[in-house]
Amino acid sequence: MHHFRDTTRAVRVGQHMDLGDAHGEPIALNSAYVFRSAAEAAGRFSGAVPGNVYSRFTNPTVHAFEQRIAALEGGESAVAFASGMAAIAGIAQAWLASGCNVVCSRDVFGTTLHAFRQYFGRFGVEVRVVDLARIDEWQAAIDARTRLAFVESPSNPLQQLADIPAVARLAHAAGALLVVDNTLLTPVFQRPLSLGADLVLHSAGKFLDGQGRCMGGVVIGRAELTHALRGVLRMLGASLSPMNAWLLLKSLETLELRVQRQSESAQFIAEWLESRPAVRRVFHAGLASHPQRALAKVQQAGHGAIVAFEVGRERADAWRFIDALSLVSIATHLGDTRSMATHPATTTHGRLSEAEREAAGIGDTLVRLSIGLEHPDDLMRDIDRALSAASRRPGRRGALPEREARRPAALPAGARP
Ligand SMILES: *Cc1c(COP(=O)(O)O)cnc(C)c1O
Repeated sequence: MHHFRDTTRAVRVGQHMDLGDAHGEPIALNSAYVFRSAAEAAGRFSGAVPGNVYSRFTNPTVHAFEQRIAALEGGESAVAFASGMAAIAGIAQAWLASGCNVVCSRDVFGTTLHAFRQYFGRFGVEVRVVDLARIDEWQAAIDARTRLAFVESPSNPLQQLADIPAVARLAHAAGALLVVDNTLLTPVFQRPLSLGADLVLHSAGKFLDGQGRCMGGVVIGRAELTHALRGVLRMLGASLSPMNAWLLLKSLETLELRVQRQSESAQFIAEWLESRPAVRRVFHAGLASHPQRALAKVQQAGHGAIVAFEVGRERADAWRFIDALSLVSIATHLGDTRSMATHPATTTHGRLSEAEREAAGIGDTLVRLSIGLEHPDDLMRDIDRALSAASRRPGRRGALPEREARRPAALPAGARP
């Protein structure tokens, strides 16, 4: 399959499971496997004979998904987990040990940092937090006791970038592994393994599924590393269900089409937002105004569906904006076919202290959008109306009534396909 383009590999790798002549892939909803002899059972348990033993750690449908995502990330092998957090916990279990440290960028998914600090900290792991864009901070933090350098680039929601090859060089010089959480960009826009990362992971329920249907996680890398991770999965038991693996397997077939369109719409919305008077700043790596534009161009083939911006002067302005949206959903998830808006300071980043939020740049007026597959003209109209509402302060003429009754998910009149 190596001679085919990624678009082809996304629909062909991992297809051939034994199901007679069916064109689709079966869902192997089973826990146990039959062996032809006692000797074969012994061989499979010892690993000398390839094949399934028990669905806690291998299953044909899960394996098909693992092969397909490994092909897209350009990795040798992959291990699927029940969720993104299970994948992160698995990586931590596999490589962290008492007396070592993990160097992690500050703007990672909140529960990731919480896991390192709260749960692995208890076992004597030191957590060193750095600004992802500051290579001097990575350099100062990484030392001979570092086992893992962990980064999510671009950061969510502010879209700052780490120079992945530079961080990889520092990690490797210290004998550490570089782990990149590639959930936001997907392999369509960024290939961390080709940039020097050792492991790349996804919260698969975001863009990989892309339709808000299931949880999942996956880690891709060299076979020797994924082999170690599969050992952890066998112990942890946070296994991806075959049903969810099948959903993800089918989702990968449309990944490129979906995220390309979402990214184009996000670019359009981000550029348009920059021209709106109520909007103070827009954060998206595709903008000419992005401070790391040059790095974004070489490291990313596209910039994804996340757009953040600051609206008005205070929290109430951001909340009025969100409440006045009628097409865009209010949801903290990301990577769905449907666009969503979030107020990070009071939701995803609500656990941080005010000082921590300020240090992270998560202000009260910040809104995050995850752009979906609606027509960009319809999104623009909805956002435009909500911006007008945000600028209308209460108590004055024309104050917005309570959130308008949400229209059912029918296409607005006149919407183009
Ligand atoms: C959601 C998310 C996670 C956690 O994944 P779950 O599947 O929710 O456990 C990790 N990293 C990023 C970037 C995420 O967006």
